[in-house]
This record gives sequence, C-alpha cells and structure tokens, in this order.
Amino acid sequence: MNKYKDKVVLVTGASRGIGKAILNKFAKHGAFVIGTATTETSADIITKNVTADNNTGIGLVLNIADKLSINDFSHKLKDLNAPCILINNAGITCDNLLMRMKDDEWEKVINTNLTGMFHVTRLCMRAMMKQRYGRIINISSVVGLSGNPGQSNYSASKAGMLGFTRSLAREVGSRGITVNAVAPGFISTEMTDELTDDIRDSILNQIPLARLGHPEEIANVVDFLSSDQAAYITGQTISVNGGMYMG
Ligand code: NAP
Repeated sequence: MNKYKDKVVLVTGASRGIGKAILNKFAKHGAFVIGTATTETSADIITKNVTADNNTGIGLVLNIADKLSINDFSHKLKDLNAPCILINNAGITCDNLLMRMKDDEWEKVINTNLTGMFHVTRLCMRAMMKQRYGRIINISSVVGLSGNPGQSNYSASKAGMLGFTRSLAREVGSRGITVNAVAPGFISTEMTDELTDDIRDSILNQIPLARLGHPEEIANVVDFLSSDQAAYITGQTISVNGGMYMG
C-alpha cells in the first residue's frame, strides 16, 4: 500500500489518459504526486482528485513546449521536495503525410515530445544525482519502433526518446538512477478516440490480443519499473502493445 511512501513523483500530462492512470497508481501507493496539465483548470482538477481520495499531491501548470512555462514551473517545484521519480508522459500527435507536412506540424511535435522531455528531465537531474537515487521513465510509442505512415514527426520524436533514454542511462547509472522507456501500442484514450472506425478496424487486425490497451496496463509497467524490483533494469524499452509489434 505504502510502497512509495516518502517518494515524490512527477508525472507530466497527468490530466487524462495514460498520465492520469500513472498518477493515480503512485498516489494510491503513498507517493506525494505532482501532476501537470497545460491549464489552471485542469491542474486544479488534478489537485482535487488526488486529495479527494485522501492521497497527497498537487496539480501544477506546465507547457513543456514553452520555455517560459518551464521556468515558472521550476520555481514552483522549488517549494516542494524534489521529485526522485519522473515520468515523461506528456505528448501530442499532429499527423500528416510528409509531402503535405507543414513546418509547424513538424516543429510542434518535436518541440513537445522530444525537446520538452529534455527540458523537464534536465530540471530534475541535479536533485536525483544528489540523492544518488532516481527513476526516469519516458513514455514513447510502438510507432517509435515500427514507424507509421502519416506520423513521421511523431515517430521521429518517439524514436528520439529511445536514444535519449539509452544515452542518459549510461550517463547516470553510477549514481543509482535508472532510465527506461515504455512503448505503448494503441491505448484507449482521447488520443486514440480521434481515430476513424476504418483506421481503428485496421489497427485491431494487427493486434494479436485483438483489443486496444487500457491506460492502467501502462501504469502497471511504469509502477514495476519504478519499484525496487526493477533496480537492475536500465536503458531498456518495454513494449506494451498486445503483440502488435514484436521487434
Ligand atoms: P492524451 O489523452 O492526449 O493526454 C495527453 C496529455 O499530455 C494531457 O495531459 C495533456 O495536457 C498533456 N500535454 C499535451 N501537450 C502538452 C504540452 N505542450 N505540455 C505539457 N503537457 C501537455 O494522451 P495519452 O493517449 O494519454 O498519451 C500519453 C502519452 O502516451 C503520450 O506521450 C503519447 O504519445 C503516448 N502514447 C499514447 C498512445 C495511445 O494509444 N494513447 C500510444 C503510444 C504512446 P492537457 O490536458 O492540459 O492538454
């Protein structure tokens, strides 16, 4: 029950979907959770939800694609105990075939998914190095491994996260910090609600387990990678995709 007592956990993009499931999992297991959202309203809802369940934590505003917002967030973080577990979950899609992709569609996805993760991770590093303990888990995607037509921007950002994960794991392993990635397949959230019925059917045909995943199924793996049982796992990418891609 109190597996994460005395641990401070930061989950980016915790207002809904996978991030919310991850935040709830840590809160339930006794961590002090910091969940971020891009608006005050959503951040307040995170705070209310966490405290309503008699758990401890707070929702804070953070736009990981905006340096000013990251700066504001870093000041608010100073008033709290530094996170020793960081879940880089916030991410977006902006799909288009490459021939039609606008600069803005490319930049917005790379700036959020890849550069945003870099900024938030750097912000949390010093305290983890001092504590000689840390867990960093980056939420990538099956399409960062397999590729997907119409998602060259998203796929590049998610594959980039995997290179980042492996390099950082080598940098900080001697300080007791593990860095891993989780690559979800298609999970039932607002992100996949946008899919048309035709695309959804064609995706289901590629999944041996013949269903979309649930956000809690990603949270379970994040929980394991954050636990003491996973202390000797670093630099890895764990696929949670119903068998959709077996690379
Ligand atoms: P979602 O339901 O669309 O939620 C995205 C979350 O990211 C929201 O909390 C959102 O906050 C936050 N966010 C968006 N832009 C942000 C920004 N610029 N700065 C900070 N936060 C931002 O997505 P999801 O399906 O739960 O996906 C979560 C992660 O899993 C993403 O990285 C996604 O790429 C990855 N993933 C998802 C699937 C899937 O099938 N769903 C599959 C593979 C990988 P607001 O509510 O404030 O906008």
